[in-house]
Amino acid sequence: MSGRDESPPYKTRMTTDRAIAAYLGLAIGDALGATVEFMTPREIAALYGVHDTMRGGGWLHLKPGQVTDDTTMSLALGESILAQGKVDALAAAQAFDAWMRAKPVDIGNTVRRNLLQFRKTGEPEAPYSDHDAGNGAAMRVLPVALATFGQSEDTVRAACRAQAHVTHHCALSDAACETLVLMVQDALRGATKNDLLHKHAHPLAARHPEFRFRAVRQSQNPSGYVADTLQAVFQSFFDTDDFRGCLIDVVNRGGDADTTGAITGMLAGTTYGLEQIPAPWLNALDINTLRSCEAQARALIRIADMPG
Ligand code: MN
Ligand code: MN
Repeated sequence: MSGRDESPPYKTRMTTDRAIAAYLGLAIGDALGATVEFMTPREIAALYGVHDTMRGGGWLHLKPGQVTDDTTMSLALGESILAQGKVDALAAAQAFDAWMRAKPVDIGNTVRRNLLQFRKTGEPEAPYSDHDAGNGAAMRVLPVALATFGQSEDTVRAACRAQAHVTHHCALSDAACETLVLMVQDALRGATKNDLLHKHAHPLAARHPEFRFRAVRQSQNPSGYVADTLQAVFQSFFDTDDFRGCLIDVVNRGGDADTTGAITGMLAGTTYGLEQIPAPWLNALDINTLRSCEAQARALIRIADMPG
């Protein structure tokens, strides 16, 4: 252990806490949203009034606090980054392939198709397709954000694409992945929500009108299309003021609610910090998931600190 590890400066400790909050936010949003995945807001309201507890169930018949592919693919990616000491496309593809062999509770169509292709070809980059604009690469970006924290923007963007292209090789997916990673990294540095809005969310919508989220109708029932997903995420994140409020807002829109929940939870966790994560949600989260997320957050941020 170096001296730096024994007495981390305040700033490092704050960054580590925010990294842990990001990972726990991701998992909590996933577990909370999975209950109402593929439901409409009207169906959710009829069944629960407001869905705001970790109750499991849903179409996947989950236990309360159980997570889905959004969290487990992130953990698989994080493991591969820790094993390599960096983001590596082939290692990520192998990790995702092993994850698929272990029969996950859910898996996206694009993820499955391109991982089966990888098994045949050994080529970790999927062929380019504008049709592969699902949210499956964007939902698992967090380990990249943590491991490349503090590196040059070019390096960060290249790492984003390396992990994303294993299953989603698509310009809109790339734009979403890179924006989310840069947002998390700025939030780790203490950026405010307003900073994130003006530096990242508005510029993304200016570059790609598909991502417009202002002056459009509230996104109800967001699909797995990455632009639909981020529209709901941005509306909920920027129009609420706390962790609990934005997660309840986004998952009650239904649709791909585990994924909108996961991405919103990641942004909100990083921005608002650990102290805002409601204890009942944290206590209900599957204990092994909680431990893995916390351990990975610490370890990935440590990689980011290493020179070279
Ligand atoms: Mn899922
Ligand atoms: Mn989903």
